[in-house]
Amino acid sequence: MSEHILIVEDEPKIARLIADYLSGSGYTPHHLAHGDDVIPWLQDRPEGTQPALVLLDLMLPGTDGLSLCRQIRQQWPNVSVIMLTARVEEVDRLLGLELGADDYICKPFSPREVVARVKAVLRRAHGPEQETQQSGSRSRLVLDHDGWRALADGRDIELTAVEFQLLKVMMASPGRIFSRDQLMDHMYRDHRIVSERTVDSHIKKLRRKIADVWPEREIIRSVYGVGYKYQPEE
Ligand code: CA
Repeated sequence: MSEHILIVEDEPKIARLIADYLSGSGYTPHHLAHGDDVIPWLQDRPEGTQPALVLLDLMLPGTDGLSLCRQIRQQWPNVSVIMLTARVEEVDRLLGLELGADDYICKPFSPREVVARVKAVLRRAHGPEQETQQSGSRSRLVLDHDGWRALADGRDIELTAVEFQLLKVMMASPGRIFSRDQLMDHMYRDHRIVSERTVDSHIKKLRRKIADVWPEREIIRSVYGVGYKYQPEE
């Protein structure tokens, strides 16, 4: 059965473009342009026909995207949320607020990118079994918690404690963007003693080690102006 996606976006052109790409990819899109319509619309959906995911614009007429994201999280915890925002700096602020959105996309974006993110978030939401099935024969990265190392197709990647920790945090949420600040929180008890550059330098070493084994794949991506994410697919 085709999954329903709710697009909440007040710019009709953008909404139509996303809707076209989503239906082209086998989803059933719905569109709302006013923030005040979102919660009543969700409440009126018959049981079992809730959207699997909401693409939620930050700046809307009526109720804004932030409040909507919070309300959706509380009332419909199974519905995934991807926030759409016009500015990269905004993403950093949103990450700090811990709204619980599953992902963030900066405008301007390509509709293809939106569809890819929707697929990634839904794949995650459907749980690990499906993910394993879909990755099928694809090469895999596995963490060895006892040995503090990673195994890429069975080949050893020796990691420092900090590199291991960084990788572990990012691998736990594939596709999620982490700000440097959030990564620091996971690395050090008192992160006032380190700078954001420290994170960059650890990530750089980590990427180099992974690239030694998989030169053709970039599984730790930097998101310009925001931070990093672990993206095993594509
Ligand atoms: Ca808007």
